[in-house]
Amino acid sequence: MNRQTFLLRVGALFLAGPGILYGAPAIIYVVKKGDTLSEIGAKFGVSVRELKYRNGLKNDLIRIGQKLKIPDAADYLTGVKSHSDRIKLNRLKWKYIIAHHSATPHGNAKTYDKVDRRHGMENGLAYHFVIGNGRDSGDGEIEIGSRWTKQLHGGHVSKWSYNNAGIGVCLVGNFEKTRPTQRQMASFTELVNYLGNGLLGGKYKFMVHKEVNATLCPGRNFPTKAMHKRFN
Ligand SMILES: [Zn+2]
Repeated sequence: MNRQTFLLRVGALFLAGPGILYGAPAIIYVVKKGDTLSEIGAKFGVSVRELKYRNGLKNDLIRIGQKLKIPDAADYLTGVKSHSDRIKLNRLKWKYIIAHHSATPHGNAKTYDKVDRRHGMENGLAYHFVIGNGRDSGDGEIEIGSRWTKQLHGGHVSKWSYNNAGIGVCLVGNFEKTRPTQRQMASFTELVNYLGNGLLGGKYKFMVHKEVNATLCPGRNFPTKAMHKRFN
């Protein structure tokens, strides 16, 4: 673990408000008799694809006693970093990082992309990033949208100035009814920290959707106050 990784991991563990602890310690799972990758994945809210990728598995075979690393926020962020290193970042374009909830219990980047295209959205998926809740993608898994890859404006708010300069991050869930998972919030804070304080050098404003438009998004249970305190 290099210094940066260490700091990221420590950064994921902090008290963001009374009684709310975000961040989950790294989990190593030891395979027991009868375990399958899909059962282990379901238990921890991790896709089989991610489990295999993080543990360098070429197929679905696992053996009793084998140690499997359950990916955490730092692991998911590694994917975002290596992806972002390969794209042509338009640093001056981005002024805002805007949080959303999906307002649905299910979904992932692919399903939202389909819905957005069906609604006539030119570039598909309205957000730059989607953070899963363990249902249709891993719990805390960060999916990268093509708008990030291509450094395209978002389609996530209805004010052009914010769409054009705002990085949209959507957490899967309806936070009017439920709460974001601990692993989602750990990934969210790591992602915003990396984008805002890392890539944008602190020159950004953290916002939630309802601060731009009249909407409930990202829901009453999203810790808006704590996140403003954390970021700006
Ligand atoms: Zn929204």
